[in-house]
Amino acid sequence: MITAPPSTSGPKAGDAQAVLTIDLAALAENWRQLAMRVAPATCAAVVKADAYGIGIEAAVPALVAAGCKVFFVAHVSEARRVRALDSKVDIYVLNGLLPTAVEPCLALNLRPVLGSLSEARLWVAAAGAAPCALHVDTGMKRLGAGLAEIPDLAALRLNADLLMTHFVASENPGDPLNRQQIERFAEIRALLPPMRASLANSSALFLPEQPFGDLVRPGYALYGGNPTPGLDNPMRAVLRLDAPILQTRVIEAGEKVGYNAQWTANRRTRLATIGIGYADGLPRQAMSTDAKPGGEAIVAGHRVPFAGRVSMDLTVLDITDVPETDVRAGTRACLLGPEISIDDLGARAGTIGYEVLTRLGQRYHRVYVTE
Ligand SMILES: *Cc1c(COP(=O)(O)O)cnc(C)c1O
Repeated sequence: MITAPPSTSGPKAGDAQAVLTIDLAALAENWRQLAMRVAPATCAAVVKADAYGIGIEAAVPALVAAGCKVFFVAHVSEARRVRALDSKVDIYVLNGLLPTAVEPCLALNLRPVLGSLSEARLWVAAAGAAPCALHVDTGMKRLGAGLAEIPDLAALRLNADLLMTHFVASENPGDPLNRQQIERFAEIRALLPPMRASLANSSALFLPEQPFGDLVRPGYALYGGNPTPGLDNPMRAVLRLDAPILQTRVIEAGEKVGYNAQWTANRRTRLATIGIGYADGLPRQAMSTDAKPGGEAIVAGHRVPFAGRVSMDLTVLDITDVPETDVRAGTRACLLGPEISIDDLGARAGTIGYEVLTRLGQRYHRVYVTE
């Protein structure tokens, strides 16, 4: 049966510097919200890349308890971890079928998402009527069988219980590619034996076309990412990241901060150094230089900017505008939380929240909150 989520993981509180708080109640609520949105279609959960960095061992039990019965991973190694937590749920492996994956898929009752005629032939030869999914390409040109392979696939005795495709630009509701892909998918589906249909990732759940099919595959939105960029985030935040201030100091106008002296104080400036850097997944491109602003943190209720480059283990904040009595060594700076989302940090680092999430480091003391 299902294992309970852990209450903490990673280095213990006293040994770690930064603390990552993961709200599993918010994760469960996000899943329930999406499940209600798409009903009567089934809502699965994508937990590839260690559940987008938050931890498979924490995310899967919380999602199962919320009612989720279908999981998607990218790799067999991830599927093994999900299977170890629950013997019953359906587990689909998105990255297709390498010959080495056949045996673990059979032994662990995993469903490979077959993405070409040759993968389908390999599966039928080795696994006979064992269930699988079939991925067809409607525009991404990454994985998925092409139109030319469909007649041969239709003739195979493949026990595919799910026909899926993946959107190229579902976060842009105005992009004509969305409608094109929905149409191409319908055309391909008509050429194949009857199967349940699955098209939608997180953002596609918010498209006006409502391309829910029979089963949807959200990932990012479950973890609190905004599936509707440019609009208010309909999801609850799941992560909070706090790092302690190690030192504070005052520098004079004209003095410079950090590697390669890329940030210059334009006034008498108070700095705080925090114990988190790019080795912890704080994007190096969140650096703040004289040429561009960078990341921000919340210190004692004030929003403060980064000063200089993000180092491996350290980052410097400009806390001049925080009352001096509110800050000392040990005060925590919040880098992700109610006021700074993963989407915000991604944008300030020239990347996307998905990358912020999946690069979360291994040095955090992780605390899992369940209510
Ligand atoms: C990662 C992935 C998803 C989930 O996408 P999100 O944008 O994170 O919701 C769904 N389907 C496929 C094929 C994927 O690779």
